[in-house]
Amino acid sequence: MNGISVLKTANQVGKLVFKWRKAGMRIGFVPTMGALHKGHISLVSLALEKADRVIVSIFVNPSQFGPGEDLESYPRTFNEDLMKLEEAGAHCVFFPSVKEIYPDGFSTSVHISGLTETLCGKYRPEHFNGVATVCAVLFGIVRPDIAVFGEKDAQQLAVIKRMVKDLNLGVDILGGDIFREPDGLAMSSRNSYLNSEERKQAAVIFKGLSKASELVSKGERNTERICSAVRKIINYKAPLAEIQYLEVVDLCTMEALDELTTPGLLAIAVYFTHTRLIDNVILNP
Ligand code: AMP
Repeated sequence: MNGISVLKTANQVGKLVFKWRKAGMRIGFVPTMGALHKGHISLVSLALEKADRVIVSIFVNPSQFGPGEDLESYPRTFNEDLMKLEEAGAHCVFFPSVKEIYPDGFSTSVHISGLTETLCGKYRPEHFNGVATVCAVLFGIVRPDIAVFGEKDAQQLAVIKRMVKDLNLGVDILGGDIFREPDGLAMSSRNSYLNSEERKQAAVIFKGLSKASELVSKGERNTERICSAVRKIINYKAPLAEIQYLEVVDLCTMEALDELTTPGLLAIAVYFTHTRLIDNVILNP
C-alpha cells in the first residue's frame, strides 16, 4: 500500500499537483462518482500506465441527474472505494463537497451542441451539460496531462473529447475498454439496483450486442436490420427489459447511420423497472 492521500479542497489538489509537476511528473486523472468496481479500477490502471501520478475524483455530481433520477439513492461506498484505489496504486483521491465544486455564485454551464442531442441526450436533456460542466471544473482544478474515461459511456467520451478540442483544454482524453461481468453484463454502479431475476435477464443485453457484431462480420450493413435482430433477442430472452433506445450512430457525431460504411456505435439503453442500464459495441464493417 502506498498511503493514498485524500484531499477535499481544490486548493489542496492544486498544491499537490504543482509539486508533482515541478518534479517533472505527468499527471493522470480519472473522474468517477464512486461505488467503484473493476471497470473503474481498469481506468486507474490505464492512467497509471500513461502517467507518473494518478488522481481519482469521487463526486456524485448533482447537475448531471435529472428530476426524479437516482441522485439521492446513488450508492455511496467511500471507505471501500478508498481501499480499492489504494490497492490499485492511485496516488490521490479528490473527494470534494458539492459546495467545493459549485460554490455560491457559480453561474457557468458548458453546453456541447449536436452530439448531446441523440441517444441519452434525447431522454436526459440536462445530463451532458452537467457532465461537461463538472469535467471542465475538475480539469481546471487538477490540470491533468491525461484523463481516462470509459468507453461504456461512449457518448460521454465523445462529448468530453469535443469539449477538450473546442476549448483547447490541453488534456489528452483516453478511452478505456468496457469491463464486463463473466456473463457479459457491463459493470455499473447501478447494477446493484437489480433484483436477482432482473440481474439474470440483464446479461441478455450483451448477447444482443454480440449478435449485432456477428451479423456485421457476416456482411450485414443495414442498421435497421441489425437493430431489429438485437431487439428481437432482448425482447424474447429478457421480458423484464424495456428498451429505451437502440441505435447505430457515427462514433464522433453520434448521428444515426442507415448503412454501415464506416465503423459505427451500436448503443442501447434499457430499463429494468426503475434501473436504467446502458451499453454499446463498436461495429466494424
Ligand atoms: P461513473 O462513476 O459511473 O461516473 O463512471 C466513471 C468512469 O468509469 C466513466 O468514465 C465511465 O465510463 C467508467 N466506467 C463505468 N463503468 C465502466 C465499465 N464497466 N468499464 C469501463 N469503464 C467504466
